[in-house]
Amino acid sequence: MEQTNKLPEKVKYDLKFAREIYSLENGSYIKQCMQCGMCAISCATRDIMDYSPRRLFNLIKLGKKDEVMQANTFWYCTSCCTCLVRCPRGVPLVDVMHDLKKYALDNGYGDYPQAAFYKAFWAEVAGRGKSFEGGITARYFLFRGLDEVLKYMALRDVGINMLKHRRLPLLPPKKVKDLGNLKKIIRKARELSGKEAR
Ligand code: SF4
Ligand code: SF4
Repeated sequence: MEQTNKLPEKVKYDLKFAREIYSLENGSYIKQCMQCGMCAISCATRDIMDYSPRRLFNLIKLGKKDEVMQANTFWYCTSCCTCLVRCPRGVPLVDVMHDLKKYALDNGYGDYPQAAFYKAFWAEVAGRGKSFEGGITARYFLFRGLDEVLKYMALRDVGINMLKHRRLPLLPPKKVKDLGNLKKIIRKARELSGKEAR
C-alpha cells in the first residue's frame, strides 16, 4: 500500500478564549482542575451532558470556544453541589457553571430552552421584585418562538389543572415596595461583579 507522509492537521488552540474564561469571576479556578474525574463520576446529569465538567474544563484550557459554548453541559447543570463538595482541588464548580451560563448569554450562545428560561425568570424578577409564572411563561415562549408553543400544547392539561388548583395565578402579583431600591441594588451588584472578576 502506498505510504503518505502527510502530517495530521494542526490542532488550533484559541488561548484568547481560555484567558477570557479565566477572567470571569470564578473562571481562574478552572486552572486548579487536575482532571481527576471526581466531578464526572459524581454528576447525576452527566449522561445527558455533551461533556462532563472535567472534559469541559479541559476544552476551556485548550481554548476550544465553539465546543465549549455550544455544549449543553452548563445548561444541564442543576447546581446540586455534589461535585463541589467532592472536588479535591476545591474548584467551585457551581459558580463556574453560572459564570459560563452568563458568558454564553452575553456572547450569543443561548440556543437552549434553559437559557430562555433563565432570561425570562430574570426579566420578571428584576422588573417586579417577584416571580410571576404567567409572565415567565409568556416571555419564555417569546424567546423560544412558535415551535415551542406548539410543543407545549401537548401539556395543556397540566396547565389547566394547575389553574384549577390555583397553582398558576392568572393575574400578576403586586410589585415589591420600593422597586427603585431593588433596581439600585441590582445595578450595584452588576458593577461589583465586573470589578471582582479576576
Ligand atoms: S473534581 Fe475537581 S479536580 Fe477533579 S476533575 Fe473535577 S474539577 Fe477537576
Ligand atoms: S453541580 Fe452540576 S456539574 Fe456538579 S454534580 Fe451537580 S449537576 Fe453535575
